[in-house]
Amino acid sequence: MTEKADLQPVLDRAAEGGRISPQEALDLYRSAPLHALGAAADAVRRRRYAGTEHIATYIIERNINYTNVCVTACKFCAFYAAPKDTAKGWSRDLDDILRRCAETVELGGTQIMFQGGHHPDYGVEYYEEHFSAIKKAFPQLVIHSLGASEIEHMARISKVSAEEAIQRIHVAGLDSFAGAGAELLPARPRTAIAPLKESGERWLEIMEIAHGLGVESTSTMLMGTGETNAERIEHLRMIRDVQDRTGGFRAFIPYTYQPENNKLKGQTQATLFEYLRMIAISRLFLDNVAHIQGSWLTTGKEVGQLSLHYGADDLGSIMLEENVVSSAGARHRSNRLEIIDLIRKAGRVPAQRATTYEHLVVHDDPVDERVVSHISSTAIAGGTAHPELKLLDAN
Ligand code: SF4
Repeated sequence: MTEKADLQPVLDRAAEGGRISPQEALDLYRSAPLHALGAAADAVRRRRYAGTEHIATYIIERNINYTNVCVTACKFCAFYAAPKDTAKGWSRDLDDILRRCAETVELGGTQIMFQGGHHPDYGVEYYEEHFSAIKKAFPQLVIHSLGASEIEHMARISKVSAEEAIQRIHVAGLDSFAGAGAELLPARPRTAIAPLKESGERWLEIMEIAHGLGVESTSTMLMGTGETNAERIEHLRMIRDVQDRTGGFRAFIPYTYQPENNKLKGQTQATLFEYLRMIAISRLFLDNVAHIQGSWLTTGKEVGQLSLHYGADDLGSIMLEENVVSSAGARHRSNRLEIIDLIRKAGRVPAQRATTYEHLVVHDDPVDERVVSHISSTAIAGGTAHPELKLLDAN
């Protein structure tokens, strides 16, 4: 363990872009002054994005929750229904899903996140049918969806290898994986909260296969279900090791556990300071991952703004629909004008990005915001948006 007095040279080395060890990351995460940690992470971000370091990005997407029926019964999850629970369980049909895609396009969305339970009947064929139908109707929408857990499940249902499952849904229309299901990768905390999920090693193995097949992904971490600081850093180490081999993780997205309506009820959430420290340490430790995303959905808008000064370069999405973390108590929502305003008030120039992080619209002129306002209100006043969208956009 590094003595407290010896932390500054480690912090300086990290700020200059030098690689730090897991033990050094743990020492910094535990003991470095919060603002010093943030300043080091911000220095790394500024250097990586020299020339565009004044910009922070967001994306417009829609989560499409296609079913809540799930056999995996994660203890932290407030969204799922067991297959026998027909009163709570539901699935959307293809027409409903296509209508939601149409609304996404109408409201300026560029990406959909297909997210749902591990339905006992949904194998590779289900996803092939749905992704090909979505791509046929809306070729402009990027399908950034699912993760290694869904691949493990659908491959088991269809009795094929993970490699075949990935190839088939990629051909059908999946563009990239959203990195769902990473939760906590080390064995102890993972087994404690998701005992029926594949191991962390298997999650990474499937991601590595996907990256090898040209399907990139993001990566995530669920904080605050009782894991130790050392286990959080071990999670980062596991991701960094794979990234050294594949380069396929586009981003890292930590987010905080929401404690309502699930079987872990009563356990503590990660504090907002712990969350900001994680944003900073992930920017310093994951020197091979390009993007660090602030996740305001579970931490709140102000903390999202702060994250942009602790190493994050992206504020994630304006979600036109989200039901999974909202079921567990996430209360924070935003519309497009608000997220532009949040980023601007955090001292950055907002830019709408594509899934692959290219800037689509840079809001460097206040006139832009009036245009956006007009588009946004026209789309909603036009009467074609689903009531849910009106509600979310009004918040
Ligand atoms: S987190 Fe996903 S896999 Fe786990 S119970 Fe919820 S829906 Fe199922």
